[in-house]
Amino acid sequence: MWSWNGDGRRICFNALQKSHTGTDSRCISEGHPVPPGIGGEKIMVADYICQGALTFWGEDAQLDMVIEEMAELTKALLKYKRAAPEDKGVYMNFVAEEHADVEIMLAQLYFIMCKYSDMKYHGDKIKYRDEKISRLASRLDQAETKRCMKLKDISVGNSGGNR
Ligand SMILES: [Mg+2]
Repeated sequence: MWSWNGDGRRICFNALQKSHTGTDSRCISEGHPVPPGIGGEKIMVADYICQGALTFWGEDAQLDMVIEEMAELTKALLKYKRAAPEDKGVYMNFVAEEHADVEIMLAQLYFIMCKYSDMKYHGDKIKYRDEKISRLASRLDQAETKRCMKLKDISVGNSGGNR
């Protein structure tokens, strides 16, 4: 099912396609690089299917689907927030479904962008993620420091009043 092309990118061949097309030799995803660091049999199968979807429906249509699924997740989240407490479970299930849809479409977005940027997209994404996580960590740190100082002020104010 998997092979390697000349420049070290992993490409997959059409084993699953056999029943669909009646042929067994067409490459369904040549050129869609597999990002490094992805492992595990289940994930590899999911990658393979995502690449198959890109080949069948085309990148333009799948980019539309990325947008559509993100909009569906947005809508599910708004409904979850608006739901009565006794209905939260049902709406959480809708969120889970849309969350899964978005994950699948983001995997396809990733393949498309990596293909056209010769994996630069992968490096950029990791860089932005690390920077943003780091920034979030320092914001959390600042917020916690502020909260502690506020508590200390309240505590000092209270003990002063009790003297
Ligand atoms: Mg959906």
